[in-house]
Amino acid sequence: LRDVAIKVLNLFDDKINQKEIEVIVDIPDDLTLAVDKDYVEQVLVNYVDNAIKYTYPKTTITISGVKQDNGFARIVVIDNGPGIPMKDQARVFERFFRVEKSRQRDVGGTGLGLAIVKHIVEGFKGEVGVRSNEKGTAFWATLPMCY
Ligand code: ATP
Ligand code: MG
Repeated sequence: LRDVAIKVLNLFDDKINQKEIEVIVDIPDDLTLAVDKDYVEQVLVNYVDNAIKYTYPKTTITISGVKQDNGFARIVVIDNGPGIPMKDQARVFERFFRVEKSRQRDVGGTGLGLAIVKHIVEGFKGEVGVRSNEKGTAFWATLPMCY
């Protein structure tokens, strides 16, 4: 998981530098997922893309990975952006759903990223979710681990 996270961060190097974002990666070296790398990459690309798009300049985003005792790892991507209103949190994983226009005038997107993440993760019997307030957002996903 750590290797994929670092690869994904390299893809976003320019945007990270432009916005002067600090990135923290907190993933154990021996956390290995029982999922093809390309799927893990797609999940992280979408969460990290959003985190970078929405976090305020000169803030921190954190990518963490935690081993759970049910055989799944929990991946969490946290940003320090405007957050997602409570009423919209239940809908962000729907296809084409985007939060009110006023907040995203300058931030493009089709509203498919999170629907793709949910589709991939649920295909492996994992779960996705979001926690958010006006100080930032945490998106999480669980995927099966190797033993
Ligand atoms: P795409 O990922 O297809 O390029 P998108 O980023 O708009 O487009 P999603 O990734 O599915 O689509 O996200 C859906 C909506 O949820 C976004 O348009 C945005 O309104 C909201 N959202 C997603 N991530 C965040 C975040 N980290 N902070 C605030 N709002 C977010
Ligand atoms: Mg997106």
